[in-house]
Amino acid sequence: MIGVALISILWTQPWTIRAGVDEVQTWLPQQVPAAASYRADVRVDMKAHTVTGTLAVRFSPQDDKAYFHLYPNVFQERADLGGENWEQILGKQREPGSIQISEVRVDGASVPYKLQGSMDTLLAVPLLGKSSAKQTEVEMNFALQVPFNNGRLSYNDHAMWLGNWLPILAMKGADGWRLDPYASIGDPFFSEMANYHLRVQIEEGYQLASSGIESVAVVTQTRPQRQSIYELDAWNVRDFALVILDDSYRQESGKVGNVVVRTWSQEGDDPQVASHLHQVAMQSLAYYGNQFGRYPYQEYDVVKTGGFFGGMEYPSIVFIQDEYFSRTDQVADAIVAHETAHQWFYGLVGNDEVREAWVDESLTDYATMAYLQSVDPARARGYIQLRLAQSKTAETYAAKGLRVWQSVEQFPTWKSYTELVYGRGAAMWWALREGWGEDRLHELLRQYVLENQYGQAKGQELMERLSAEAGADATPFVDYWLKLRLEQKEAAEAWVNKGKHE
Ligand SMILES: [Zn+2]
Repeated sequence: MIGVALISILWTQPWTIRAGVDEVQTWLPQQVPAAASYRADVRVDMKAHTVTGTLAVRFSPQDDKAYFHLYPNVFQERADLGGENWEQILGKQREPGSIQISEVRVDGASVPYKLQGSMDTLLAVPLLGKSSAKQTEVEMNFALQVPFNNGRLSYNDHAMWLGNWLPILAMKGADGWRLDPYASIGDPFFSEMANYHLRVQIEEGYQLASSGIESVAVVTQTRPQRQSIYELDAWNVRDFALVILDDSYRQESGKVGNVVVRTWSQEGDDPQVASHLHQVAMQSLAYYGNQFGRYPYQEYDVVKTGGFFGGMEYPSIVFIQDEYFSRTDQVADAIVAHETAHQWFYGLVGNDEVREAWVDESLTDYATMAYLQSVDPARARGYIQLRLAQSKTAETYAAKGLRVWQSVEQFPTWKSYTELVYGRGAAMWWALREGWGEDRLHELLRQYVLENQYGQAKGQELMERLSAEAGADATPFVDYWLKLRLEQKEAAEAWVNKGKHE
């Protein structure tokens, strides 16, 4: 069996640990005080496709009100989700969904809350008289009707995948509240680290994979109701995704250091393909850990779901679109490796995915290329060439005023988003690798992760880091690659050369 052979290769080859990696001080996740804690008690009905329950969120107020994103409401019946970008997410067959909120309480007292946004995708909760010196608790009841479509929150006959489903606190920055709507392009999310405790009740016979730690979850069976209740914890995560799977799903599990990696496929899937993807998940998790810093969570789940997205990242869990469980080309490897890299870029180091999607996506896709290259340069060539070609094509967008460094709503199509953010963004890092060498670039990225983990990083900060490393202002380089100022090509190359010391 190819999977077993790969495991032994993985474990008998000593890791090429780079200087400094061993000594990198990473905090244990439990020791970092998260900004907020979420406690939810939910009941899942797989026949009605509903999730109902209560949510309590403790946090320090930043204002006389708090906002929660209610992303599922974008899929309401009355929503007007026209245009080709929404068509991709919704697919041909679709059913609406929504999240109803009731009985909002602040520190136990009912408050007059408001729904905002054209599709009620925001919940505004008044916090009058609450100060940031003291934590406040907002509680609410909710009833989620899961929509049926091609997106991150949907279901099929065997699984229900819940991405961006729970109400989540909006961020407040120096320039005010960030109440960005659910854009049809990119992953338009921006959130702070939090601790989660979920109690999930589901009919017996189903299995769960989530951002929490299933391997130590307390599971209680109830009689005669034949329900299972899972207690799930996740510390220092930006979101909590949950997938409910029927008994057609099976898991392959392994360990990378102390991390349990589980890959969920279905009966009827080619077991070799599933095993191979599992190996990619394990091997890439190990590779990024060595290159960019320790993965501080106990589990990592790779789950076959439906969807249009190829793969979708959440903390400690990724969704992989079903068709990649029957493909043997390198695209499937690249998708699993890409989503795994997001555990560092997006997961550990957060960023504003609305205004600066390139910060996590370009680094994630660069990391994917580096991983594939480390495994088999000949096989990696196809994927790397694809991204470099997209970067070239992306130059045609310069005349239209598009750039890599812009907000998700400024991209007219998924194609332009892909070519710019993934293609050109990743090609920028690849160009730097070719100029400065892998070791130096990865040392820079390791510092970036170390200094920003559990927090947020900005594009501006990456730029300053590049300037400091080169000893010369990185503006021409960034302008050429990310702002599509094509006339800066030579100045960008000169900057790379200038920064090439020793
Ligand atoms: Zn991505």
